[in-house]
Amino acid sequence: MSVGKSNIEVGELQYVKGVGPKRAEALAQSGILTARDLLLYVPRNYVTLQRVATLAALNIKLRRENALFGNEFKIGNNINTEVSVVGRVIGYKVHTFGKRRQLLVVEISDGSGGHAYINFWNYTDFFKKMYPVGELLSVTGRPVLDKYNKISFNHPSIEKMDDEDESQFKSGGILPIYPISDKMRKAGINTRLIRKITANVIEQYLPSVRENLPDAMIKSLGLDSLKIAIKNMHFPTTVEDIDRAKYRLKFNEIFYFELELAMKRRGRVSRVHSVVINSKSPRARKLYESLPFNLTGDQKKVIREIMEDMAGGKQMNRLLQGDVGSGKTIVALLTMLAVIDNGYQVAIMAPTELLAEQHFHTIKKYVEGLDVNVVELTGGQRKKYRQDVLESINSGEANIIIGTHAMFESTVEYNKLGYIVIDEQHRFGVQQRADLIEQGKKSMSIGGVPHILVMSATPIPRTLSLTLYGDLDVSVIKEKPANRLDIKTKIVFDSEIEKVYDFIRKRVDEGEQAYIVYPLVEKSEKLELKSAVEFYEKLNKEVFPEITCGLLHGQMLWYEKEDTMKAFLEKKYQILVSTTVIEVGIDVSNATVMVIEDAERFGLSQLHQLRGRVGRGDKQSYCILVTKDKFSFELNRNDRDDFEKMAAVVRLRTMEQTNDGFNIAEADLKLRGPGDLLGTRQSGLPDFRFVDLTSDLDVISLAKSEAEKLLKEDPILSKPENSIIKYYLKFIEDKNNYYDIA
Ligand code: ADP
Ligand code: MG
Repeated sequence: MSVGKSNIEVGELQYVKGVGPKRAEALAQSGILTARDLLLYVPRNYVTLQRVATLAALNIKLRRENALFGNEFKIGNNINTEVSVVGRVIGYKVHTFGKRRQLLVVEISDGSGGHAYINFWNYTDFFKKMYPVGELLSVTGRPVLDKYNKISFNHPSIEKMDDEDESQFKSGGILPIYPISDKMRKAGINTRLIRKITANVIEQYLPSVRENLPDAMIKSLGLDSLKIAIKNMHFPTTVEDIDRAKYRLKFNEIFYFELELAMKRRGRVSRVHSVVINSKSPRARKLYESLPFNLTGDQKKVIREIMEDMAGGKQMNRLLQGDVGSGKTIVALLTMLAVIDNGYQVAIMAPTELLAEQHFHTIKKYVEGLDVNVVELTGGQRKKYRQDVLESINSGEANIIIGTHAMFESTVEYNKLGYIVIDEQHRFGVQQRADLIEQGKKSMSIGGVPHILVMSATPIPRTLSLTLYGDLDVSVIKEKPANRLDIKTKIVFDSEIEKVYDFIRKRVDEGEQAYIVYPLVEKSEKLELKSAVEFYEKLNKEVFPEITCGLLHGQMLWYEKEDTMKAFLEKKYQILVSTTVIEVGIDVSNATVMVIEDAERFGLSQLHQLRGRVGRGDKQSYCILVTKDKFSFELNRNDRDDFEKMAAVVRLRTMEQTNDGFNIAEADLKLRGPGDLLGTRQSGLPDFRFVDLTSDLDVISLAKSEAEKLLKEDPILSKPENSIIKYYLKFIEDKNNYYDIA
């Protein structure tokens, strides 16, 4: 298909030797417009004797992984890891399915005694001609080992190697493999051509690339210069060259990002004033002394951090990360009491009415006898009741306001609101957080802004919290309360469900309680409700006729949910059948069994959240993940080809293997990528070209501490040796990306 005269600017690239206008246009369509773009075009892989596995060795490695898969499967090792192999075509077969469908299998061998098969499901004639017997290929992709121990690749990236490549490869040279889009391929652009063009571009343009880090920093960190890094990314002599080049380019990208965050943080710290909170608090002390448990070291540490922040007269803006059940509520409450004792109102906001409800009850119970007035404000309240609540807030009679988004509506007038706690923050977008803080500010009647504590129950992998929340101070509760036992988690198949029911009966006989959760998949609310009710009736009447079951679903009114939860809490129900509305925050410590139906449908962090509903007391708790029998097959094989199925399997296995929220979060990040996990697009996180937010913790931490160090020594970057940084910051601002080079 001809593109015609496009309005894409082709620019200087067409004048580079080997390019010309036509190829320049194809490159431009893939976002490579300038010589600079090409200099920064990252190879997807490198083919070198030192890195390429022989097919024989690859076979052994895959077999070992397969053998391990059943019990010691570790996420990240097996999935999505590409390898490159080099081999010669020694034959092919064409299989025909039905009338039309053909499969071309090209067999390659590398003389190591190993073989691999490349599968083509489309354009079989074309590929047969393209890769004739005798052709030497470099193949990059995810290998699959079938039950006959044959290695195969589905849709790998394939590059033909010519004599020159071959001799370079055989003599230990390193060949970069570039990502090639379909459009590029159609215009006759392949990896070899990119390699040649890049060589020309480097010759012509590299001398004019400007260094963008100060000499001293490059030296003290032992980094490559920018020029060397760029050259070595494309034409490394050793494998170490590649690693060093990548490290430098990653550092570059993330350093400037962290520097901007650090500058924002500084700006905030020096600017925004807030109320001074004296940490002496009779009511906090009284509650603390009457607690039926000892706070963990981490809880105490976080309370200290919060009180120190709030004592300084500057606004606290802190993220508190702590796994489900780590005891964040009491931390928030003790610090809230201190703010109240200083004469201010406090607010705590939850993402759902149910959770607001729970906080309301928990907190009311804690502050009994402390002369604290707690009110609740949610969207679903009756008018008259709401009016009373609003009045008590406005008059200052209310000390603690607990609610949902409703609490930031313009009709709410606060009275010296000094502190806002936002619970389970991952449910809110980052933008929402900013909006809320803004609304909180407006609602202040005393000038200044309230202190902010954001509590997240989804531990965010460090790589992400360093970037995404770089403008917040972060506190972490890692330690679990001492009395906690790890929850035992097991995968069970549909055909074994009777055993699960028996198990529940036993636990209930012991006086414990159980949740049974199942996902709703119906498109319409009406159908959902119907299936929720049907499922419940079946359980209540047929399966557990002797046990009282409650039902909780999303279409109930807030007070109906409240009644149901209350009844469960008061043990009027032994089993609570529920949709995912219980996902967040609900706390019934007598519940010890969490059964999740169709568990393969849930996301990893969702599963972990659900599991966190049990194991909240000192009894042994259990999480049973029920899945389809057909998954028993999936669970025991290692088919990398079907990533979706694979991902479901990995999620279930990961749940079985760990109770640690941080491990779970990291696994989730690897499975879904940062974009999916947090909605990075809307969070304002840039698309990094070099840095991988799922794995580059080292370089991200280094960049953060270097950025902080720099600002400490030279807060406004006025020293001459830092002029280069100042210049480049401006450049980034103009260009709005972090990887470009001047
Ligand atoms: P989350 O961090 O998930 O919000 P919660 O604050 O709801 O956790 O606490 C979970 C349970 O643990 C509550 O029942 C709470 O009373 C209890 N708890 C909190 N801190 C401790 C502690 N140090 N020792 C024992 N139990 C605790
Ligand atoms: Mg909580």
